[in-house]
Amino acid sequence: MRTAPARIDLHTHSNASDGEHSPEEVVALARQRRLRVLALTDHDTTAGIERALNAVRAVGDIEFIPGVELSCDVPGTEVHVLGYFIEWQMPELQAMLEKFREGRFGRAQQMVAKLNELGVPISFERVKEIAGDASIGRPHVAQVMVEAGHVEHMSEAFEKYIGRNGPAYFERYRLTPPDAIRLVLQGRGVPVLAHPDRVLDYVPSLVEAGLAGLECWYAQYDKPLQRQLNDVAKHYGLIATGGSDFHGLHRMGHMSALGEADVPASAVTKLKKKKIEIERMKK
Ligand code: AMP
Ligand code: MN
Ligand code: MN
Ligand code: MN
Repeated sequence: MRTAPARIDLHTHSNASDGEHSPEEVVALARQRRLRVLALTDHDTTAGIERALNAVRAVGDIEFIPGVELSCDVPGTEVHVLGYFIEWQMPELQAMLEKFREGRFGRAQQMVAKLNELGVPISFERVKEIAGDASIGRPHVAQVMVEAGHVEHMSEAFEKYIGRNGPAYFERYRLTPPDAIRLVLQGRGVPVLAHPDRVLDYVPSLVEAGLAGLECWYAQYDKPLQRQLNDVAKHYGLIATGGSDFHGLHRMGHMSALGEADVPASAVTKLKKKKIEIERMKK
């Protein structure tokens, strides 16, 4: 019976992408939850990192890991690659992230047009307003659909319209998983396969491309699955990482609470060691 609070969360989102809270608020919430280590891993953007870092520096009692989460181009399923300790200022990396975000913007426009055709009248202006400067995602579209009363919950928007097999789903520009891993490595980051349960078939080819870790201690997975994934990580010599995939205090229906994952301290130590190795290799 272990109920000690978790102290490490390596997978979180802010409103720099589709999270509910500002980077400063995520840091404040992490402190409230008494986290020792926090990584911010927004979708296709590093815009929240500087702000989170400043908030962390102002308080000094929490360790911050800069990160990013890249969605990859795979037919029929979601493969997401996390990049830890990424050198976010690198121009080549920023140019690619910018390209992904342009793709997100265009796709959101297409989705709204299709929704209008399907008799779900929402305005792209409102989607842009809600997203602000964020990397636009389907949750922003879903939020407008809820607000306009077309669906009751965001998950209903996904189920009926904008989920992968939904009538208003559109593809956008993304990298293949091995290319996403290479991009993270190019940015001197440590590449980790996020919520890998349904995409384990990809692991061998990703290891070949330089994958360093597997998100085993994912808060939405039950313990047996987490342990099974840990065995997979061991088999391939991957670092077993973990996190909550926190998106906000009011997004709990779909995601987990901040700090909910049981992540061992060794995950952080190993990520740091790997970061140093990657830096040496790239010199
Ligand atoms: P996108 O990044 O635009 O492809 O949108 C994917 C994001 O939508 C994920 O990162 C989640 O935050 C969110 N999401 C995915 N499925 C659902 C769902 N069923 N209900 C609510 N949010 C979801
Ligand atoms: Mn998300
Ligand atoms: Mn993800
Ligand atoms: Mn995520």
